[in-house]
Order: sequence, then structure tokens, then C-alpha cells
Amino acid sequence: MTDNRIFNFNAGPAALPLKVLEEVKASFLDFEGTGMSIVEISHRSAAFDTVINDAVERTRRLLKLDDSFHVLFLQGGASLQFPMIPMNFLSGDRTADYVNTGTWSTKAAKEAEILGKKIRVAASSEDKNFSYIPENIRFNNEAEYVHITSNNTIKGTQWRKFPDTGGIPIVADMSSDIMSRPLDMEKFGLIYAGAQKNIGPSGVCMVIIKKDFLDRTKDEQLPSMLRYRTFADKNSMYNTPPCFGVYTIGLVLKWLEEEMGGLEEMERFNREKAGLLYDFIDSSDFYLGTAEKDSRSLMNVTFRLCEESLEGEFIKQAQEKGLGGLKGHRSVGGCRASIYNAATREGVQALLKFMENFEKENKT
Ligand SMILES: *Cc1c(COP(=O)(O)O)cnc(C)c1O
Repeated sequence: MTDNRIFNFNAGPAALPLKVLEEVKASFLDFEGTGMSIVEISHRSAAFDTVINDAVERTRRLLKLDDSFHVLFLQGGASLQFPMIPMNFLSGDRTADYVNTGTWSTKAAKEAEILGKKIRVAASSEDKNFSYIPENIRFNNEAEYVHITSNNTIKGTQWRKFPDTGGIPIVADMSSDIMSRPLDMEKFGLIYAGAQKNIGPSGVCMVIIKKDFLDRTKDEQLPSMLRYRTFADKNSMYNTPPCFGVYTIGLVLKWLEEEMGGLEEMERFNREKAGLLYDFIDSSDFYLGTAEKDSRSLMNVTFRLCEESLEGEFIKQAQEKGLGGLKGHRSVGGCRASIYNAATREGVQALLKFMENFEKENKT
């Protein structure tokens, strides 16, 4: 049944663990003996309560969160968080610092500006085409929060160590590396992640908010659907939540706990997979990594061929060999292998072999 599945290096929506997909398939027509599909049951039913509470509890266990955090599942993707964050946390003349490390950070800051909020770009790596993560940043100690993008899906860079903000809460877009490694959540006021990169299908965004950070909001003027408090007060069920997405996230988190052995083990495996690719790229003068070494992402490996005119052929031949999704983002070109949690060692090895052969056949 699974013979024609390819090795999927898509950036998002992206590969999910096969075991999770099989579980979805097996239970799709009759969820837990209800005689209904998960997409047919009421979100007010006891069965769905179990589903959402299980996903919340697994999130808490994996990230070692105590009950000083809310775990929410919202709609609108990561992109709706871009305006929601400044709407909820920057009333009046409150201000925030943003670190610009690429397309998604730029968009996050832009949405705050559209709303007329007072924000400052505290650091940017635009001077070198976003190929690195800035260091030794001086933050404004009046800032309500510091916004960062923990992993830059398009440019292939990742914060290895989070910045020292002198106690200002960090708000982080973790869409493309949530649950890929353990986190010290003490530094964060809020983290958010569109699920479709690393933890589930599209249509649901995981948002984790520290309760005392949420208490600082002045959101009385906002529509209910744009207030974090609306969802925090109702266990994400103010209106119909993205039921199927929450269910699938729960299965992915179960896989993380039971099959992968938690986030320490997940990180070790992610390092191993990325290491195989980067070591090979570094040892070759045919391929060229595009991110600076100490800023490289473990999730999105971006590279070029020294002979750029061969890139189209590289991507085409890879596709023919069952290696999909290697084209870089349309805004940057080149190649990108997205190797999220669900990427297998087998897939990475197949890619390496293909890259080796392609080099031999095309090197002049
Ligand atoms: C994909 C991505 C987004 C956009 O997510 P949507 O859920 O499509 O809004 C935002 N930030 C990062 C880092 C991403 O990788």
C-alpha cells in the first residue's frame, strides 16, 4: 500500500511519520468505536474532549511545561499570529523589538507596522542576504517582548542559542522547528507554530503562552476571535476548533513520545540527519551550502550547485528517483532539503547517494 510513497523533502506542508498516517487511515471511518469519523464528531463531545486534552498534555510533557502556560490550537496559521501578537500585547505606546532574520520575520514586523504599532528592528541579517543569525544584540529594555523566528525555513538558518534579552520575554515563531529539540521555556512569553511543517496538517497553529505574559494584555477593544484570552478561557473551543488538525497533532506527539523517545532523542536524530548532509556538502566542491556554518538549520538544508545552470536538472532527476520537494523557495531559488522530524535516515541516505552520483556524472 505504501510502495509508491516518495522521500518527501517538502518545506510545508511536509512529510508526517508513516505510522501516524496509518493510524489516521485506520481510524478514519470509525473513531474509537463511535461509529463516526473524527471529522464527523461534535467538538463538544466527550470523545473530542479526550482528543484535545491528550494533545495538550502531550505538549506539556514533551516541552516540560507546568500549568503556568496555556497550550492553544488556533486557526489562521502562523500568519495570523503576526498581527495578533502586536494587537494583544502592544496597546497604547507600548513597544517591542523584532529581529529580522528573513522573509517570515520581515512579515511579522510588517504586520505590526500596518497596525501602526511602535516596533523597532533591533538587529537584522539582511546585509548578507539573511545567511546568518545576528549575535550580541542590544535590546530596548522598555520592550514588551522580543520577536524572533527560531528557524528560517527559506534561508536555512536557525537560532542555536536563544538571545539574552535581559529578562524581556521572547515571542518566537517556531513554525519550522517546534518539537525538534528541547526548549527552556522560561525565556519565552509566547511561542507559535503553524502545524504543517513539523507537527501535523495545515489549518491549525499551536500557540503556547505564559499565563503572566497573557495577563499583561489590554485587549478589550479587540474582536473576540482576535483575543488570545478568548481561546485561553475556553480550552481553544470558543468556536469550532480545527478538530482533525488537533487530532493529528496528538498522534504526532504520541509518536514523538513513544517511538522517538522524546525531544532529547529527537534532537540527537535531527543532528545526525543534518550532519550527514552538511558533511557531504562541505566535502564537495560541486555543492555549496548557503547559510553560514554556525547558523545552519537542522531542519532546512539550503544549498546551491556551483554550476547553477544544473539546478533544474538536479531537481528534475531527483524527482524521477523518488526524491521530492528539493526546489528552493521561489524567492531565493537554489535547492533545499527540508528534513523535519519525520524525515527518515533512509531518505537522507537516498538523497546523499543521488547527490554523489549527480556530481560524478556532471562534474567537468
Ligand atoms: C511556513 C511558515 C510560516 C507561515 O505559516 P502559515 O501557517 O502558512 O501562516 C510562518 N513562519 C515560518 C517560520 C514558516 O516556516
